[in-house]
Amino acid sequence: MLQLDSIDFRYPTGDFHLSIPDLSVKAGGKVGVIGPSGSGKTTLLNLVAGILTPGKGSVTVDEMKISSQSDTTRRDFRITNIGLIFQDFGLLDYLDIQDNILHPYRITDALKLTGDVRNRAKILAEQMGIADKLNSHPPELSQGERQRVAICRALLPGPKLILADEATGNLDPKNKVRILDLLFRSVEKHDATLLAVTHDQELLSYFDRVVDFQDFLPGEAA
Ligand code: ADP
Ligand code: MG
Repeated sequence: MLQLDSIDFRYPTGDFHLSIPDLSVKAGGKVGVIGPSGSGKTTLLNLVAGILTPGKGSVTVDEMKISSQSDTTRRDFRITNIGLIFQDFGLLDYLDIQDNILHPYRITDALKLTGDVRNRAKILAEQMGIADKLNSHPPELSQGERQRVAICRALLPGPKLILADEATGNLDPKNKVRILDLLFRSVEKHDATLLAVTHDQELLSYFDRVVDFQDFLPGEAA
């Protein structure tokens, strides 16, 4: 589950100001996030992931008040419990695709890289249609393929919270629905919560709820 309590956030520089009223999403909840470019959608995901911390208010993920933990605790919690699919994918070019997918297991002691994990990685890669790319490197893949690698990496630990920043943005219509379906199946399997930024109007009906950042912009009537 995810709980936001009266979040107030500013970057150290610039005059961007984000103020979000209470928002609560139960386990199993699938929320679509929409809004104009620059309205703070990526900032929200970074706050929820504990990459940024709010000036006021709190973020609670699966009983853990993440916003008041130390940097190290937030990082370990994030790697173990949160599946992050970044807008720029965040893949490491010097690692092959298999090692990119397994990377979370190499950077925290909280995740154990077992034979079972390696098997599940293979199955996920097959479901995503990138099984033949496991020994390639990110620069050799198309945008859409890199995006699917990022999704495999995010889903492999079976996270309780999935944060997707336009995860279907570079895909053709058929792959869009397939990937959304895979995200939804992971949510159901792990009784997780999904927060997905999207620009695809036609995907919105698949979500339980849609949060529109237009409502949070200063000077807009909510
Ligand atoms: P969106 O994802 O909705 O397009 P963002 O959350 O990326 O919007 O950005 C919201 C606003 O915050 C933008 O005006 C952007 O320029 C500003 N911003 C983003 N990152 C930083 C940063 N590190 N420092 C200062 N301002 C930033
Ligand atoms: Mg963004």
